[in-house]
Amino acid sequence: MREQIIALLKERGVSLEQIAQIAYSLQKQYASGLGHEQCLAAVHSVLNKREVQYTLLTGIALDMLAERNQLPEPLLAMIKRDEPLYGVDEILALGITNLYGSIALTGFGYLDKTKPDVIGRLDSQCCSGRVHTFLDDLVAGIAAAASSKIAHQM
Ligand code: MG
Repeated sequence: MREQIIALLKERGVSLEQIAQIAYSLQKQYASGLGHEQCLAAVHSVLNKREVQYTLLTGIALDMLAERNQLPEPLLAMIKRDEPLYGVDEILALGITNLYGSIALTGFGYLDKTKPDVIGRLDSQCCSGRVHTFLDDLVAGIAAAASSKIAHQM
């Protein structure tokens, strides 16, 4: 299933290197000598967890169903336009960060506000026919979880 998830992320426009880079940006000021390899290893470790895999499968499936207009209204319209008050996308991503403690939680809040790199690109694609309402938060959740894992290792 892990390889399936990695392929699915890639198909949706997200590489593990991009997620590792965001985890690095969260931890670099606290962890001297932190390298990209360690960040990538932390991302892999997060993706090894079955709860994380199930959460990703669920969120990405909802994005894909919305792209194909296969969800019932009014849910379809809310997910397609990434309705700000909907909030279930953030709640689902907390299912990832909750496994990694308070550092993951605060990191997620920061990424949700600042939307760096691929998170911002996913977030801004909502009018191009692609739907990434869940994926941008899930990517932020993985990056925040990986950064928390790194913090606890250092
Ligand atoms: Mg979202």
